[in-house]
Amino acid sequence: MLKLQNVHTHYGAIQALDDVSVEVNQGEIVTLIGANGAGKTTLLMTVCGSPRASSGTVTFLGEDITHCDTHTIMRRGIAISPEGRRVFPDLTVSENLKMGGFFLTARQIDEGLQHVYELFPRLKERANQRAGTMSGGEQQMLAIGRALMTRPQLLLLDEPTLGLAPLIIAQIFEIIQTIRREGVTVFLVEQNANKALQVADRGYVLETGKVVLADTGANLLVNDQVRKAYLGA
Ligand code: ATP
Repeated sequence: MLKLQNVHTHYGAIQALDDVSVEVNQGEIVTLIGANGAGKTTLLMTVCGSPRASSGTVTFLGEDITHCDTHTIMRRGIAISPEGRRVFPDLTVSENLKMGGFFLTARQIDEGLQHVYELFPRLKERANQRAGTMSGGEQQMLAIGRALMTRPQLLLLDEPTLGLAPLIIAQIFEIIQTIRREGVTVFLVEQNANKALQVADRGYVLETGKVVLADTGANLLVNDQVRKAYLGA
C-alpha cells in the first residue's frame, strides 16, 4: 500500500533519512521504533510531503506521491495524527474535528463526525468543550479523531501515547486495534516499543536515519538488539 524506496531526506545540510526502504501493506499495523532524533517523525512527514524526499520514491496505492503536495497526499487517503497532538486549544472538540475535514463537503463532515463520535463516545460527550481544557488522553483521542475525519485508508500515528498514564496508554492501543479492524491500515511511530511491537504485524528499527532491522513484531520483541536498546532488558 505504502512503499518508500531508497528515500533520503534532508533539512538543509542535515541528512535525517539515509536510504530508507519501508513497506506497509493493506490491513497491517506497522510500527517504527528508534531513539530520539533517529528520524521517525521525519519519515512520517516525508510520506506527507513535508519535507519532501530529496531522492528515492514514495508510492501509495501504486502511485508515485514523492513530489505531490501535502493536500494532494491527504486527498488520496493518507492522514496523520502528529507528534504532540497539536489540537487547537481555543477551539471546541467539534470545531477541531471539523478542521480535520477541511476539504470535505458539509455532508461528508457530518458523516465524519458521526463516525468519530461512535469510535470515541468521550469526544461526543465533550463536543462543546474547549480542546485546551481536556486531559492529555482526551486530546490524543481528539488528534486521532481529527485525522479520521477524512476516512483515510492509511493512518500515520506519531507517538500517540507519549506522556500518558498507563491506563490511558492501554486505551489508546485498544483504539488503534479497533481502527485497524475497521479497515484502516496503521503506520505507528512509538517510544513505547514493548506495547507497539505487541500490536504490530511488522516493525522497523531506525537508527540515525537508517533502517537497521525489519521483522515481524513478534520476532522484534525477542530480538536481543531490540531488547537491550528499546525494551530495557
Ligand atoms: P523524536 O523521537 O525525538 O521525536 P525522531 O526519531 O522523530 O525523534 P526527527 O524529529 O525525525 O527524529 O529528527 C531527525 C533528525 O533531523 C534530528 O537530528 C533532528 O535534529 C533533525 N531535524 C528534525 N526536524 C528538523 C528541522 N525542521 N530542521 C532541521 N533539522 C531537523
